Amino acid sequence: MKDYYKILGVPRNASEEDIKKAFRKLAHEFHPDKAGGNEAKFKEINEAYQVLSNKEKRAQYDKFGQVFEGASAPGGGAWDPFGAGGFGFGNQAGFDVNFDDIFEGIFGGEFRGRRKSNINGSDIEIMIQITLSDAFKGLKRELSFKTFVECKTCGGLGYDKSKGVKKCTTCGGKGEIRENKRTFLGNFSQVRTCPDCLGKGEVPNSPCPACKGEGRIFSAKTVSIDIVPGIEDGQAIKITGGGEAGIKGGRSGDLYIKVNILPDSRFVRKGSDLFEIKDIRITEALLGKEIPTLDLNGEKYFVSIPPGFSLKDKLKVPKKGMPKMGLGGRGDLYLTFNIKLPKHMSNKAKKIIEELNGELDD
Ligand SMILES: [Zn+2]
Ligand SMILES: [Zn+2]
Repeated sequence: MKDYYKILGVPRNASEEDIKKAFRKLAHEFHPDKAGGNEAKFKEINEAYQVLSNKEKRAQYDKFGQVFEGASAPGGGAWDPFGAGGFGFGNQAGFDVNFDDIFEGIFGGEFRGRRKSNINGSDIEIMIQITLSDAFKGLKRELSFKTFVECKTCGGLGYDKSKGVKKCTTCGGKGEIRENKRTFLGNFSQVRTCPDCLGKGEVPNSPCPACKGEGRIFSAKTVSIDIVPGIEDGQAIKITGGGEAGIKGGRSGDLYIKVNILPDSRFVRKGSDLFEIKDIRITEALLGKEIPTLDLNGEKYFVSIPPGFSLKDKLKVPKKGMPKMGLGGRGDLYLTFNIKLPKHMSNKAKKIIEELNGELDD
């Protein structure tokens, strides 16, 4: 688990202003375009700042050590509709934070003109289906899927570093190619990044045979996920760097696991409250008997109907709802009672009820 406070070098009780200051200072220091810059470090700083500068995300992070994006998180991207069930794969451009944009927003484009020397991996989104009971108890599980993973032979670089590099012949070491295009409007000259060296101006002497110089291979990947109790339908868990590996040392994309909660046979959920229709016997209603009932985690408890209760109303059972994610405590349970009339009544039962009918006042 990444410690965002440590990354920004601020105490856990740092003010918003302190966090902003720390971010600016570190972002200047590590920006990839500066001498001594470090793209991985810069990205990490940016990620920490994205979370700690947002009140809601910071609260979630403090509580769970991770941040949930999605349905109820303000500012979270809108999810594209998924196919019915199963896994969904694809790019999720809406979630990809472009740190150049953010950086320019803060520093006024001071570091423009960065050369792209490698290609970053795409983000991946996967949908998992869980039961309401899983959402109640929380769930740890492993998730396997196929994607681009870092090549182990070359460590993701795409070549053998010890064999050195040579000047790219395609672009003559310039990293870019000038192309002249003749159109009916005249001649245009266009500059584009060299496709062979990706702008580096040099190519390796010994490309990795295992990945054919790509630095990544298509293979199975397994991640561990930890769904905390109280997660809501449509929320997503973000695993930084859990997406596609980048090409030739490019950074990995992120993985978003969207949680879809299946309908439950007993409970309907609204936020952290649960609603249930419960069958009871007429005598249980009349006598205010303790009615056994089961929690979503299988725990047994009793409810009783208070005298004078109207069956049109819902009985509120405090703190028997869903866990409140990030806040602690539980929501409430609302019971609606459905009186089941007996299918058969003995003569004796009929006689007793006749007698009871005469005894009751309204
Ligand atoms: Zn390789
Ligand atoms: Zn080149």
